[in-house]
Amino acid sequence: MTSVRYVSTRSAARDFSFREALLCGIAPDGGLFIPDRVPQVECALWRKASSFKELAAGVLHRWLKDEIGEAALKPLVDDALNFDVPLVKLEGTSSDGDIYLLELFHGPTLSFKDFGARVMARLMSHFLSRSDKSLTILVATSGDTGSAVADGFAGLPNIRVVLLYPKGKVSLTQERQLIVRRPNVSALAVEGTFDDCQRMVKSAFADKHLRHINLSSANSINIGRLLPQMLYYCEASRQADLEKPVFCVPSGNLGNLTAGLLAHRSGLPAARFLAAHNANDFFPRFLTGESHEFGSSVATFSSAMDVGAPSNFERIRSLVPEKDLGSSIWATSVSDEETIHSVRKTFSESEYVADPHTAVGIEAARRYQRSSENVPPIVVLSTAHPAKFPEVMEKALGRRPQTPDRLARLWEQETQVATVAASSTALTEHLLSLQELSEAE
Ligand SMILES: *Cc1c(COP(=O)(O)O)cnc(C)c1O
Repeated sequence: MTSVRYVSTRSAARDFSFREALLCGIAPDGGLFIPDRVPQVECALWRKASSFKELAAGVLHRWLKDEIGEAALKPLVDDALNFDVPLVKLEGTSSDGDIYLLELFHGPTLSFKDFGARVMARLMSHFLSRSDKSLTILVATSGDTGSAVADGFAGLPNIRVVLLYPKGKVSLTQERQLIVRRPNVSALAVEGTFDDCQRMVKSAFADKHLRHINLSSANSINIGRLLPQMLYYCEASRQADLEKPVFCVPSGNLGNLTAGLLAHRSGLPAARFLAAHNANDFFPRFLTGESHEFGSSVATFSSAMDVGAPSNFERIRSLVPEKDLGSSIWATSVSDEETIHSVRKTFSESEYVADPHTAVGIEAARRYQRSSENVPPIVVLSTAHPAKFPEVMEKALGRRPQTPDRLARLWEQETQVATVAASSTALTEHLLSLQELSEAE
């Protein structure tokens, strides 16, 4: 069988190759790309893989078949996924059932965003290298996405990244991760809010003065991030012979959950998915029928999940029939107070230091165990390293977590950032001057 084709969530009238879907980001009609069929990957295939990389290349091959040959795919995956994915059991939990943590924060920027960003960056670079096109990736970021994308793309040929973040509104650690000098990456500190940054990016795509620059985006709506995010679900199942676990996903834009649902469709054994949200509770309220309206986002201790209008909701609606939503997904909302309590309880019972996002997931898992009978083992996705959120960790545990070397070294590196006004003209001018520079080279 040939490669999977992609259609828009809004119309199946036209289909696209993976390459097209990856490089466009969003469908021409404004919808999101979804696969028109899901290739089946037998569990046996990944259960007998000897490493995560081998499994990853094997699964991706089923999806990308004749668009990228195995000979090119293998080294690409080896280079992108060059870090561990440990599955650890939370010892000492009460008798409600077993909880495992799948640690997804061992990549260079210490969050699970590294998986999607690093693979997507290399896939884009692979496809571009066969044309003489270059691409400028625009990213508005309020946290983990920006650093993962900057790091994932840095130094790849034919690609430039421009990051926009709200000046003074990200933590010092996050800012440092955004502004260290990287080849082909420029960071812009916008004198405004995250919403201003997003607005500026949107208007750049519509700006006729920028037509001659090939712009793309790298946010979580890109299908190129979702495919690699399926891989660690399979890895959990490769490492532990859990018959049909429940997967619990700390959620914001619902990209991670969507990837899990895709993996499940393609053969991942799973009993159910839990969507663990903070006070931004649109999805739990939608599933119980309480509300069909997006909210505006509220700030919480698990800031990477502060999303009022999850962009992947549209995908989930297209992928899962209405009647199956409730049986496939259970969702709940965890307050800041409960998040702090969860960090403390996890540390006192299991001596495990969970970051605030993971703590939301652990609390959701415990809640699910209390609410139903005979719950199978639950795998909570551990989405970030606690050292990324020292302020919240100090509040919960009375001290800051140890800083891994990777993070500590950032403070010795050179930085590069330009401050710009929160206006689309400022971004246009910046992009034009970058273009002139690269043409002069
Ligand atoms: C992005 C992020 C999330 C939310 O993931 P979505 O795919 O947006 O649902 C959760 N935790 C951390 C640490 C993140 O960076």
